[in-house]
Amino acid sequence: MTRTTFIPYRPKSILNKHKRADHWFWTRYSAYPYLGCQHGCQFCYCRERKYLPYENPNDFAHVIKVKQNAPELLRKALSRVPIDLLMTADYQPAERKFGLSRRMLEVCLDLGFPVFVLERNPSILRDLDLLQAINQRAPSVVAFSIISTPESPNYDRIRQMENLAPAPEKRFAAMQKFSQAGFLTGTCMMPILPGLCDDDANLEAVIRWTAEHGGQFILAGGLTLADQQRTYFFNILQERFPELLPNYQKLYPRGSYRAAGDWAPIARRIRELCEKYGIKDRMPRPVILGDKHALNKRIAERLANRTYSLELEKAPSHKVWGYRKASWAVDDLEQDIGLVYRMMGLKGLQSIPDIGISLSKEIEDLVNDFQK
Ligand code: SF4
Repeated sequence: MTRTTFIPYRPKSILNKHKRADHWFWTRYSAYPYLGCQHGCQFCYCRERKYLPYENPNDFAHVIKVKQNAPELLRKALSRVPIDLLMTADYQPAERKFGLSRRMLEVCLDLGFPVFVLERNPSILRDLDLLQAINQRAPSVVAFSIISTPESPNYDRIRQMENLAPAPEKRFAAMQKFSQAGFLTGTCMMPILPGLCDDDANLEAVIRWTAEHGGQFILAGGLTLADQQRTYFFNILQERFPELLPNYQKLYPRGSYRAAGDWAPIARRIRELCEKYGIKDRMPRPVILGDKHALNKRIAERLANRTYSLELEKAPSHKVWGYRKASWAVDDLEQDIGLVYRMMGLKGLQSIPDIGISLSKEIEDLVNDFQK
């Protein structure tokens, strides 16, 4: 087994800020204490050149850069931005040694920032107390990356692909604890590896286990492959599962980031299975307490969910984009959309960029629904 090398350093900044929340995790900011990940999942997109601070993708799991001043940098950065959801914390084994995730979460608690934590390691339970305090002050999300259960026909092969990440049974047990502690929790089923995770038995088992362990949502996504990560991943397939390689080469011809082919049927199947087990295939957007843009955010969420449904239905792309841009426009709106509607009616809604006559009527219904 290769020994891990830790490289402490002091970066100049830590907070990534986005113009608006993304439509999957609803996060506006992200900040992480470590570069590289000791779990070393073979499919991890963080080996791509744009994320990896190393020449050699093999170093990703064995050379961990430690941002020594992460808590101080985070405090400074969060003091200057509006409160919104922050994606943060990392419970790879390095956390036991350096404790930076915990100290960053303490900053979030002090400043009242809600967090979204996505984990493959159940050692996040160490900080359940702190996360609970954050969740009481600012409703937060703890989700688990899980792509299989022991019921999967390909469980052993999938576990090899997850390398040193703890077993999914342990992650589900942690999910149950977070659910019992009152968290919004669920599963990020990413990446659904073609030929390994996309069979119906595996999809259904992950969704059923999520529901049985108190998870409220599934977020599913496909594998992405770029530059040196593509080469690295193909080499792993060649070495361990050569029978799978030709299919992956066909799905990911050189230069393609996502798999060729149609993602909608698998997403529709996931939706059906989520309905069967009473959970969502979208993550509910956490409410930011005291947010003067709360109504805008709720309506933007509804429009984004409609965008996703249209994608699943294979609606014409101008229609999909119409809803997506409307969702962005409502999220970007400086004024409260309820006030805009009360002052100026439909004309006010139509003055918002990318909102035409028919969308303004849908938004009118949403405003009235939320303000009942
Ligand atoms: S746990 Fe997440 S970040 Fe770490 S290697 Fe696996 S996929 Fe990458």
